[in-house]
Amino acid sequence: YDLRNEDLKELRELGQGNGGSVKLVEHTPTGTIMAKKIVLIDAKPAVRKQILRELHIMHDCHCPYIVSFYGAFLSDPNICICMEAMDKGSLDGIYKKIGPIDIEVVSKVALAVLEGLTYLYDVHRIIHRDIKPSNILFNSEGQIKICDFGVSGELINSIADTFVGTSTYMSPERIQGAQYTVKSDVWSLGISLIELALGRFPFSDSSSDDSDLSDLEGTLSPARPGSIALPPSRSLEERKREKDKRNKRKSKGHIVNEPAPRLTPEGRFPKMAEEFVDSCLLKDPDARQTPKQLLKHPWIDHARKSDFNLAEWASTF
Ligand code: ADP
Ligand code: MG
Repeated sequence: YDLRNEDLKELRELGQGNGGSVKLVEHTPTGTIMAKKIVLIDAKPAVRKQILRELHIMHDCHCPYIVSFYGAFLSDPNICICMEAMDKGSLDGIYKKIGPIDIEVVSKVALAVLEGLTYLYDVHRIIHRDIKPSNILFNSEGQIKICDFGVSGELINSIADTFVGTSTYMSPERIQGAQYTVKSDVWSLGISLIELALGRFPFSDSSSDDSDLSDLEGTLSPARPGSIALPPSRSLEERKREKDKRNKRKSKGHIVNEPAPRLTPEGRFPKMAEEFVDSCLLKDPDARQTPKQLLKHPWIDHARKSDFNLAEWASTF
Protein backbone atom coordinates (compact mmCIF):
# COMPACT_ATOMS: atom_id res chain seq x y z
CA TYR A 1 0.00 0.00 0.00
CA ASP A 2 1.15 3.52 -0.80
CA LEU A 3 -0.74 5.25 1.98
CA ARG A 4 -1.84 8.89 1.82
CA ASN A 5 -4.25 10.69 4.12
CA GLU A 6 -6.54 11.68 1.21
CA ASP A 7 -7.18 8.01 0.45
CA LEU A 8 -8.30 7.16 3.98
CA LYS A 9 -11.97 7.73 4.70
CA GLU A 10 -12.75 7.97 8.42
CA LEU A 11 -15.55 5.66 9.49
CA ARG A 12 -15.51 5.98 13.30
CA GLU A 13 -13.29 6.37 16.32
CA LEU A 14 -11.90 3.17 17.85
CA GLY A 15 -10.27 4.68 20.89
CA GLN A 16 -8.17 7.36 22.53
CA GLY A 17 -4.74 6.85 24.02
CA ASN A 18 -2.11 8.99 25.65
CA GLY A 19 -0.32 9.98 22.49
CA GLY A 20 -3.29 10.36 20.15
CA SER A 21 -6.35 8.60 18.77
CA VAL A 22 -7.17 5.51 16.72
CA LYS A 23 -9.75 5.66 13.91
CA LEU A 24 -11.41 3.02 11.79
CA VAL A 25 -10.77 4.01 8.17
CA GLU A 26 -11.35 2.71 4.66
CA HIS A 27 -8.51 2.84 2.16
CA THR A 28 -10.75 3.96 -0.71
CA PRO A 29 -8.57 2.87 -3.68
CA THR A 30 -8.63 -0.76 -2.48
CA GLY A 31 -11.61 -0.92 -0.10
CA THR A 32 -9.35 -2.20 2.69
CA ILE A 33 -10.56 -1.47 6.22
CA MET A 34 -7.76 -0.38 8.57
CA ALA A 35 -7.12 1.09 11.99
CA LYS A 36 -5.29 4.41 11.69
CA LYS A 37 -3.37 5.47 14.76
CA ILE A 38 -2.59 9.18 14.86
CA VAL A 39 0.36 9.98 17.10
CA LEU A 40 1.11 13.60 17.89
CA ILE A 41 4.86 13.91 18.15
CA ASP A 42 7.03 16.79 19.11
CA ALA A 43 10.13 16.12 17.01
CA LYS A 44 12.25 17.74 14.32
CA PRO A 45 11.82 16.66 10.67
CA ALA A 46 15.01 14.57 10.74
CA VAL A 47 13.76 12.68 13.80
CA ARG A 48 10.33 12.13 12.20
CA LYS A 49 11.98 10.59 9.15
CA GLN A 50 14.09 8.41 11.43
CA ILE A 51 10.91 7.22 13.16
CA LEU A 52 9.39 6.31 9.79
CA ARG A 53 12.50 4.33 8.89
CA GLU A 54 12.38 2.50 12.21
CA LEU A 55 8.69 1.68 11.78
CA HIS A 56 9.56 0.06 8.46
CA ILE A 57 10.61 -3.23 10.04
CA MET A 58 6.98 -3.75 11.01
CA HIS A 59 6.49 -4.67 7.35
CA ASP A 60 8.54 -7.78 8.08
CA CYS A 61 6.51 -8.88 11.10
CA HIS A 62 4.34 -11.74 9.98
CA CYS A 63 2.87 -13.73 12.83
CA PRO A 64 -0.68 -14.84 13.63
CA TYR A 65 -0.32 -13.27 17.12
CA ILE A 66 0.78 -9.83 15.91
CA VAL A 67 -1.51 -7.20 14.38
CA SER A 68 -0.55 -6.74 10.70
CA PHE A 69 1.03 -3.50 9.57
CA TYR A 70 -0.13 -1.67 6.43
CA GLY A 71 2.25 1.28 6.54
CA ALA A 72 3.04 4.61 8.17
CA PHE A 73 3.31 8.16 6.90
CA LEU A 74 3.90 11.70 8.15
CA SER A 75 0.95 14.05 8.34
CA ASP A 76 2.22 17.19 10.03
CA PRO A 77 2.41 17.37 13.07
CA ASN A 78 1.44 13.70 13.37
CA ILE A 79 2.70 10.29 12.43
CA CYS A 80 -0.03 7.98 11.16
CA ILE A 81 0.38 4.24 11.62
CA CYS A 82 -2.04 2.03 9.70
CA MET A 83 -2.66 -1.49 10.92
CA GLU A 84 -5.14 -4.32 10.83
CA ALA A 85 -8.44 -3.36 12.47
CA MET A 86 -9.54 -5.81 15.15
CA ASP A 87 -13.34 -5.64 15.29
CA LYS A 88 -13.80 -6.70 18.93
CA GLY A 89 -11.33 -4.12 20.18
CA SER A 90 -8.92 -4.43 23.08
CA LEU A 91 -9.28 -6.70 26.11
CA ASP A 92 -9.64 -3.81 28.55
CA GLY A 93 -12.70 -2.65 26.62
CA ILE A 94 -14.09 -6.21 26.63
CA TYR A 95 -13.81 -6.78 30.39
CA LYS A 96 -15.16 -3.31 31.13
CA LYS A 97 -18.18 -4.28 29.05
CA ILE A 98 -18.78 -7.91 30.11
CA GLY A 99 -16.99 -8.18 33.46
CA PRO A 100 -14.24 -10.65 34.49
CA ILE A 101 -13.00 -12.78 31.57
CA ASP A 102 -13.45 -16.57 31.71
CA ILE A 103 -10.16 -18.16 32.84
CA GLU A 104 -10.17 -20.45 29.77
CA VAL A 105 -10.09 -17.33 27.59
CA VAL A 106 -7.40 -15.83 29.82
CA SER A 107 -5.25 -18.92 29.24
CA LYS A 108 -5.62 -18.42 25.47
CA VAL A 109 -4.60 -14.78 25.93
CA ALA A 110 -1.48 -15.91 27.79
CA LEU A 111 -0.65 -18.35 25.00
CA ALA A 112 -1.14 -15.73 22.25
CA VAL A 113 0.91 -13.05 24.02
CA LEU A 114 3.78 -15.47 24.76
CA GLU A 115 3.79 -16.65 21.11
CA GLY A 116 3.79 -13.03 19.88
CA LEU A 117 6.59 -11.99 22.26
CA THR A 118 8.68 -15.05 21.34
CA TYR A 119 8.27 -14.30 17.63
CA LEU A 120 9.22 -10.62 18.07
CA TYR A 121 12.32 -11.47 20.08
CA ASP A 122 13.55 -14.60 18.27
CA VAL A 123 13.02 -13.28 14.75
CA HIS A 124 13.53 -9.51 15.13
CA ARG A 125 15.21 -9.02 18.53
CA ILE A 126 12.35 -6.70 19.48
CA ILE A 127 11.19 -6.31 23.08
CA HIS A 128 7.54 -5.23 23.26
CA ARG A 129 7.81 -2.80 26.24
CA ASP A 130 4.10 -2.01 26.56
CA ILE A 131 2.14 -5.19 27.31
CA LYS A 132 -1.23 -4.27 28.84
CA PRO A 133 -4.87 -5.20 28.11
CA SER A 134 -5.38 -2.22 25.77
CA ASN A 135 -2.55 -3.51 23.54
CA ILE A 136 -4.04 -7.01 23.28
CA LEU A 137 -6.71 -7.06 20.57
CA PHE A 138 -9.46 -9.48 19.72
CA ASN A 139 -11.59 -10.13 16.64
CA SER A 140 -14.79 -11.99 15.81
CA GLU A 141 -12.81 -14.83 14.23
CA GLY A 142 -11.56 -15.50 17.75
CA GLN A 143 -8.00 -14.34 17.10
CA ILE A 144 -5.92 -12.67 19.81
CA LYS A 145 -3.08 -10.37 18.69
CA ILE A 146 -0.70 -7.88 20.26
CA CYS A 147 0.03 -4.38 18.94
CA ASP A 148 2.01 -1.21 19.78
CA PHE A 149 5.40 -2.75 20.40
CA GLY A 150 8.53 -0.65 20.73
CA VAL A 151 10.10 -0.91 17.27
CA SER A 152 11.12 2.70 17.17
CA GLY A 153 13.44 4.04 19.85
CA GLU A 154 12.94 7.55 18.48
CA LEU A 155 9.17 7.22 18.64
CA ILE A 156 9.43 6.07 22.27
CA ASN A 157 11.57 9.13 23.04
CA SER A 158 9.23 11.51 21.27
CA ILE A 159 6.06 10.47 23.07
CA ALA A 160 7.51 9.51 26.47
CA ASP A 161 7.17 13.07 27.77
CA THR A 162 3.44 13.14 27.19
CA PHE A 163 2.84 9.94 29.15
CA VAL A 164 0.30 10.55 31.90
CA GLY A 165 -0.94 7.03 32.65
CA THR A 166 -1.92 6.02 36.16
CA SER A 167 -2.06 2.23 36.28
CA THR A 168 1.41 0.88 35.84
CA TYR A 169 2.33 -2.45 34.33
CA MET A 170 6.03 -1.78 34.79
CA SER A 171 8.21 -4.45 36.37
CA PRO A 172 10.07 -3.76 39.64
CA GLU A 173 13.46 -3.85 37.89
CA ARG A 174 12.29 -1.30 35.29
CA ILE A 175 10.98 1.00 38.01
CA GLN A 176 14.42 0.80 39.59
CA GLY A 177 16.01 1.81 36.31
CA ALA A 178 17.47 -1.52 35.19
CA GLN A 179 17.83 -2.58 31.57
CA TYR A 180 14.66 -3.59 29.74
CA THR A 181 14.59 -7.29 28.87
CA VAL A 182 12.00 -9.75 27.54
CA LYS A 183 11.38 -10.69 31.16
CA SER A 184 9.99 -7.22 31.88
CA ASP A 185 7.25 -7.99 29.35
CA VAL A 186 6.52 -11.22 31.26
CA TRP A 187 5.85 -9.21 34.43
CA SER A 188 3.45 -6.93 32.50
CA LEU A 189 1.71 -10.03 31.12
CA GLY A 190 1.21 -11.37 34.67
CA ILE A 191 -0.39 -8.11 35.83
CA SER A 192 -2.59 -8.02 32.71
CA LEU A 193 -3.80 -11.60 33.21
CA ILE A 194 -4.87 -10.90 36.80
CA GLU A 195 -6.66 -7.75 35.61
CA LEU A 196 -8.61 -9.75 33.00
CA ALA A 197 -9.50 -12.61 35.34
CA LEU A 198 -10.62 -10.33 38.19
CA GLY A 199 -12.13 -7.64 35.99
CA ARG A 200 -10.14 -4.91 37.70
CA PHE A 201 -6.59 -3.59 37.95
CA PRO A 202 -4.84 -5.59 40.72
CA PHE A 203 -3.12 -2.67 42.46
CA SER A 204 -5.24 -0.24 44.41
CA ASP A 205 -4.74 2.64 42.03
CA SER A 206 -4.29 5.57 44.37
CA SER A 207 -4.44 8.08 41.51
CA SER A 208 -8.07 7.26 40.91
CA ASP A 209 -8.83 8.33 44.47
CA ASP A 210 -9.51 12.00 43.97
CA SER A 211 -10.76 12.67 47.49
CA ASP A 212 -8.02 15.08 48.42
CA LEU A 213 -8.31 16.65 44.98
CA SER A 214 -11.84 17.71 45.75
CA ASP A 215 -10.35 19.23 48.90
CA LEU A 216 -8.06 21.20 46.64
CA GLU A 217 -11.04 22.30 44.63
CA GLY A 218 -12.77 23.27 47.87
CA THR A 219 -10.05 25.78 48.61
CA LEU A 220 -10.94 27.53 45.39
CA SER A 221 -14.59 28.03 46.34
CA PRO A 222 -15.79 31.65 46.49
CA ALA A 223 -14.65 33.52 49.55
CA ARG A 224 -17.19 34.41 52.23
CA PRO A 225 -18.87 37.78 51.70
CA GLY A 226 -16.86 40.56 53.23
CA SER A 227 -13.58 38.67 53.26
CA ILE A 228 -10.85 39.41 50.80
CA ALA A 229 -10.43 36.57 48.34
CA LEU A 230 -6.76 35.73 48.13
CA PRO A 231 -5.64 34.23 44.86
CA PRO A 232 -4.40 30.67 45.37
CA SER A 233 -0.62 30.59 45.36
CA ARG A 234 -0.60 27.90 42.70
CA SER A 235 -3.13 26.98 40.09
CA LEU A 236 -5.38 23.95 40.57
CA GLU A 237 -3.89 22.43 37.45
CA GLU A 238 -0.41 22.69 38.84
CA ARG A 239 -1.45 21.10 42.12
CA LYS A 240 -3.27 18.32 40.27
CA ARG A 241 -0.08 17.58 38.36
CA GLU A 242 1.94 17.45 41.56
CA LYS A 243 -0.58 15.16 43.21
CA ASP A 244 -0.43 12.91 40.17
CA LYS A 245 3.35 12.73 40.39
CA ARG A 246 3.11 11.94 44.10
CA ASN A 247 0.66 9.13 43.43
CA LYS A 248 2.82 7.68 40.68
CA ARG A 249 5.78 7.62 43.04
CA LYS A 250 3.60 5.97 45.68
CA SER A 251 2.33 3.22 43.35
CA LYS A 252 5.84 2.63 41.99
CA GLY A 253 7.24 2.25 45.50
CA HIS A 254 4.41 -0.19 46.14
CA ILE A 255 5.40 -2.41 43.21
CA VAL A 256 9.02 -2.51 44.35
CA ASN A 257 8.38 -2.99 48.09
CA GLU A 258 5.15 -4.96 48.49
CA PRO A 259 4.59 -8.64 47.61
CA ALA A 260 3.49 -9.15 44.00
CA PRO A 261 -0.26 -9.46 43.38
CA ARG A 262 -1.72 -12.95 42.87
CA LEU A 263 -4.73 -14.63 41.29
CA THR A 264 -7.02 -14.63 44.34
CA PRO A 265 -9.02 -15.74 46.24
CA GLU A 266 -7.22 -19.03 46.56
CA GLY A 267 -9.17 -21.85 44.93
CA ARG A 268 -11.27 -19.67 42.63
CA PHE A 269 -8.97 -20.37 39.68
CA PRO A 270 -7.18 -23.55 38.54
CA LYS A 271 -3.93 -24.25 40.41
CA MET A 272 -2.00 -24.19 37.11
CA ALA A 273 -3.27 -20.67 36.41
CA GLU A 274 -2.31 -19.42 39.89
CA GLU A 275 1.12 -20.94 39.50
CA PHE A 276 1.66 -19.51 36.02
CA VAL A 277 0.80 -16.00 37.19
CA ASP A 278 3.08 -16.39 40.23
CA SER A 279 5.98 -17.29 37.95
CA CYS A 280 5.32 -14.22 35.74
CA LEU A 281 5.37 -12.06 38.86
CA LEU A 282 8.64 -13.21 40.42
CA LYS A 283 10.23 -9.94 41.47
CA ASP A 284 13.75 -11.07 40.74
CA PRO A 285 14.20 -10.96 36.94
CA ASP A 286 16.89 -13.64 37.17
CA ALA A 287 14.36 -16.06 38.65
CA ARG A 288 11.62 -15.08 36.16
CA GLN A 289 11.40 -17.13 32.94
CA THR A 290 11.46 -15.80 29.37
CA PRO A 291 8.36 -15.93 27.13
CA LYS A 292 9.91 -18.83 25.24
CA GLN A 293 10.48 -20.84 28.43
CA LEU A 294 6.96 -20.08 29.66
CA LEU A 295 5.49 -21.50 26.45
CA LYS A 296 6.33 -24.89 27.99
CA HIS A 297 4.33 -24.23 31.17
CA PRO A 298 1.55 -26.84 31.80
CA TRP A 299 -1.16 -24.12 31.82
CA ILE A 300 -0.04 -22.92 28.38
CA ASP A 301 0.04 -26.50 27.19
CA HIS A 302 -3.52 -26.84 28.46
CA ALA A 303 -4.50 -23.64 26.59
CA ARG A 304 -3.00 -24.96 23.35
CA LYS A 305 -4.95 -28.21 23.59
CA SER A 306 -8.20 -26.64 24.82
CA ASP A 307 -11.05 -26.72 22.33
CA PHE A 308 -12.73 -23.65 23.88
CA ASN A 309 -14.32 -21.84 20.93
CA LEU A 310 -13.16 -18.21 20.96
CA ALA A 311 -15.19 -17.24 17.86
CA GLU A 312 -18.34 -18.48 19.54
CA TRP A 313 -17.39 -16.64 22.75
CA ALA A 314 -16.82 -13.46 20.69
CA SER A 315 -20.35 -13.70 19.31
CA THR A 316 -21.81 -13.32 22.83
CA PHE A 317 -20.87 -9.61 23.14
P1 ADP B 1 -3.83 2.67 24.64
O1 ADP B 1 -3.28 1.40 24.06
O2 ADP B 1 -2.94 3.22 25.67
O3 ADP B 1 -5.26 2.51 25.11
P2 ADP B 1 -3.82 3.62 21.92
O4 ADP B 1 -3.78 4.99 21.34
O5 ADP B 1 -2.74 2.68 21.52
O6 ADP B 1 -3.86 3.78 23.51
O7 ADP B 1 -5.20 2.95 21.55
C1 ADP B 1 -6.44 3.49 21.94
C2 ADP B 1 -7.54 2.43 21.81
O8 ADP B 1 -7.80 2.17 20.44
C3 ADP B 1 -7.15 1.08 22.40
O9 ADP B 1 -7.48 1.03 23.77
C4 ADP B 1 -7.94 0.10 21.58
O10 ADP B 1 -9.19 -0.17 22.20
C5 ADP B 1 -8.18 0.82 20.25
N1 ADP B 1 -7.35 0.23 19.18
C6 ADP B 1 -6.03 0.44 18.99
N2 ADP B 1 -5.58 -0.23 17.91
C7 ADP B 1 -6.64 -0.90 17.40
C8 ADP B 1 -6.81 -1.82 16.29
N3 ADP B 1 -5.80 -2.15 15.48
N4 ADP B 1 -8.05 -2.33 16.08
C9 ADP B 1 -9.08 -2.00 16.91
N5 ADP B 1 -8.97 -1.18 17.97
C10 ADP B 1 -7.77 -0.62 18.23
MG1 MG C 1 -2.17 0.91 22.41
